[in-house]
Amino acid sequence: MQTHFSLARLADPDVADSDRILRACVHCGFCTATCPTYLLTGDELDGPRGRIYLAKDMLEKDRPADATTVKHLDRCLTCLACMTTCPSGVNYMHLVDHARRHIERTYRRPLHDRLMRKFLAFVLPDAGRFRVALAAARAIRPFRRVLPVRVRRLLEIARRERTQRAPTTRSRVDTVDARAASPLLSHARSTAIKRVALLPGCVQPALRPQINDATIRLLRRHGVEVVIASGTGCCGALVHHLGKENPARAQARADIDAWSREIDDGGLDAIIVTASGCGTMLKDYGFIFRNDAAYAHKAAQVSVLARDVTEVIAGLALEAAVPLPAVSVAYHSACSLQHGQNLHTLPQDLLRKSGFTVLEVPEGHICCGSAGTYSLLEPEMSTRLRERKVRNLEALRPDAIATGNIGCITQIAQGTDIPIVHTVELLDWATGGPSPLRIAACPHS
Ligand code: SF4
Ligand code: SF4
Repeated sequence: MQTHFSLARLADPDVADSDRILRACVHCGFCTATCPTYLLTGDELDGPRGRIYLAKDMLEKDRPADATTVKHLDRCLTCLACMTTCPSGVNYMHLVDHARRHIERTYRRPLHDRLMRKFLAFVLPDAGRFRVALAAARAIRPFRRVLPVRVRRLLEIARRERTQRAPTTRSRVDTVDARAASPLLSHARSTAIKRVALLPGCVQPALRPQINDATIRLLRRHGVEVVIASGTGCCGALVHHLGKENPARAQARADIDAWSREIDDGGLDAIIVTASGCGTMLKDYGFIFRNDAAYAHKAAQVSVLARDVTEVIAGLALEAAVPLPAVSVAYHSACSLQHGQNLHTLPQDLLRKSGFTVLEVPEGHICCGSAGTYSLLEPEMSTRLRERKVRNLEALRPDAIATGNIGCITQIAQGTDIPIVHTVELLDWATGGPSPLRIAACPHS
């Protein structure tokens, strides 16, 4: 693609990078076929190629964002399916990140949109604030019919996470909160074979603390020392995708500083992430801070050490501790794992080796519509994608659904009664941890 940035504009490193990205695109449109939003609307501007043109026009002319550009870029899930498909290696993620920062600087959104985005940026990255917001959402639930659809989505999340569902006629299995069942330290070994830091996260500990618990149990049982570095929390991804660069960088810097101290103190073999959206962000810290003299080196070091939890588990000799009941698992491949980190088969292989029957999900490359804050900001598109995903999952009639991202868990759970758990909860169970599933005595109907 030809570009026409002025030399003065190219002096800006962000512009220079976007120029390189744009020039790599050969307009072939292969990416359009795998874009979830194009699939729904059939509008070229709701596909990656159309969005690339919109971003190019805006950035090249350095003009304020207009309503059309904002609408179609807002509708992008940042699922990165287009990057997996692109034969030319176009880094759509870095281009859309730049475009969103430009939008945030130059476009005045309607008041309700500004308020919603400010609310999400204030609440979501902080686990304490998020817990308060969930409690408030439950309290105002009786008035949900008069509330805007975006707020109703938050209420639905709060309701789903609180309700412990009984097994339905569709499934003989249900989820169990196994937190109290197994103390985290019970299997710790005296001599560690590795030392890793776990990203505690922000939304996940409030919604499903059992995911990090299962991770810690499994790793310690296999001789890995797990630390949670003081000062770590949100990785910054949620606000980063809203184009709010300053708070995103502030959160990332706090994490980088905390891990750098751990590296200096006891050394780290890996920094483990159990929410794959955060993993993609950590692996990109090196790029995000490439022009920051104080953080470039430290950020690159964090990116090199960042691992999805399944990558670290794959390097261990897993102990098969308990004979499992026959459980069929539909594996939902989170976009941030399969497209963002190129990790698609590894989690499935681990589940199979641990004794689960893993079912391939049709249209597995298509996003479930969660995408961080997307489900709250674009509820209509998000719901249509969730319905499509749930149809594909339910068609398999699995006992349970497994995935590697809290956003997908929350999103899919709103559309089905089939229990959904994190991959690591199943692996923990298979190697001696408590079962995250309650298996009913009656056979699967
Ligand atoms: S990131 Fe996903 S939604 Fe956005 S353009 Fe690419 S494929 Fe489409
Ligand atoms: S597949 Fe790649 S090169 Fe082709 S239009 Fe999409 S981004 Fe451009």
